[in-house]
Amino acid sequence: MAYSKEFQVAIVGGGMCGLACAVYLSRAGVKVDLFESASKFGEVGAGVGLGPNALRALDDLGLTEAMLAHADQEVPDQRPFRFVSGLPGHEHIHDYEALPEDLGLGIHRAAFLDALVDLVDPAITHFNKRCTSVSLNGSRPVVHFRDGTTFEADIVLGADGIRSTVRQAVTGDPVGTKRVVFTRTVAYRALLPYEDIKRAGVTWDLTDRPFCVVGVDKHIITFPIKNGKIINVVVFCTNRSIREGSVEIPLNQWVTPAAEQEILDAYADCGPEVQRLLSLIENPSKWSIHSVDPPLTTFVKGSIALVGDAAHGMCPHLGAGVGQGFEDSLVICKLLTHPETDMSNVLDVLRAYDQVRRQRANLVLKRSGEAGDRYESLHEGDNTVTIENLRSELSDQWAFVHHHDLRADIGTAVEILRRDGGFK
Ligand SMILES: Cc1cc2nc3c(=O)[nH]c(=O)nc-3n(C[C@H](O)[C@H](O)[C@H](O)COP(=O)(O)OP(=O)(O)OC[C@H]3O[C@@H](n4cnc5c(N)ncnc54)[C@H](O)[C@@H]3O)c2cc1C
Repeated sequence: MAYSKEFQVAIVGGGMCGLACAVYLSRAGVKVDLFESASKFGEVGAGVGLGPNALRALDDLGLTEAMLAHADQEVPDQRPFRFVSGLPGHEHIHDYEALPEDLGLGIHRAAFLDALVDLVDPAITHFNKRCTSVSLNGSRPVVHFRDGTTFEADIVLGADGIRSTVRQAVTGDPVGTKRVVFTRTVAYRALLPYEDIKRAGVTWDLTDRPFCVVGVDKHIITFPIKNGKIINVVVFCTNRSIREGSVEIPLNQWVTPAAEQEILDAYADCGPEVQRLLSLIENPSKWSIHSVDPPLTTFVKGSIALVGDAAHGMCPHLGAGVGQGFEDSLVICKLLTHPETDMSNVLDVLRAYDQVRRQRANLVLKRSGEAGDRYESLHEGDNTVTIENLRSELSDQWAFVHHHDLRADIGTAVEILRRDGGFK
């Protein structure tokens, strides 16, 4: 087979970002191999919210049609968030005002992954391949796997999620360095049929927009998927009595089963709408929310680059994590497939990717943490001032995420390459 580029790319990690890169690069005729540690592609049983910037990135990656075909929804819709108090009385706090062109989509993760998997050539995917390290043979990266095998390529993309192994090859951190911290927040996730929610007496219409239920050291996010038939519910609780980063959760306890009563107890101070909603959650699992901290000072070392959570795993409070990963995917794929990119300048190209992506992704990471604090800022008693402050802080919290011009970033990267001699 004739390839469009002389270089070969190894992608480590077949989550949403690794798959998006694999589909785009192989469609563009680049030789790609994708290595996934699991025995098959898989996602958790939950929804994922995609904002306007994520949808634009997916569109430019050529993935919109396949995604919508799996979303039970023909077109994305406008998704202005509604903020309400979780405390008795359920005061309306704020309706986020989106622009008419600010389209978004809630989709079941597994459905979205299926859409991507359908587009990947099985011949380039390798399962049960857990990367344990990446070394260099001269300037060529070599991926080492737990089964004792290795794979040498010209470029390695680390798309292996927040617990990334490839990250260490980029940061050069001594073994044992902590790059990911427990944020003190846990999340319980559920998918609830809207019919059940109505039957339980919840009067909020959770089908036409996402909700954020603001509380005291706790908040709930809901958004509709499958055209409003199912509501994705994420219930957050934060233990502010411990210092962030002071507690380490063993890897095998990041996700654990939890008792229904644990959630009801944590939300005992909340009003009837919340109680009715939470009473529907059965057999919840509890996720310890981690984020990359401190943020990385580079996403690239030589011919090894990080994309998605491997680069900037963040709190989910702006619903922006995978959107940032798709932005990475788009920028790196467009640059690698640029007509002027070849073996002689590929390291410059990866450096340009780092230059245009890192600052933005790290800002979204930082502000995602701050958003979580905002949603949990009510306190016992009179919240008049808090709610007034909240309204003004919430009014433009997503503008910088949603209205970013990614095509301009790609243009900037090309300008950098021309200025610095990477592109003649
Ligand atoms: C509770 C919660 C809610 C969220 N909600 C949203 C939301 O609404 N919107 C949003 O944009 N984001 C959301 N996020 C964030 C989003 O889930 C992540 O940003 C996204 O999944 C990252 O995708 P990824 O492909 O980078 O990594 P992952 O999805 O983690 O995929 C990594 C892949 O690499 C594989 N892998 C891992 N290690 C290795 C290895 N050593 N070798 C080989 N393969 C390996 C894994 O098996 C996996 O397939 C949420 C996160 C959480 C925790």
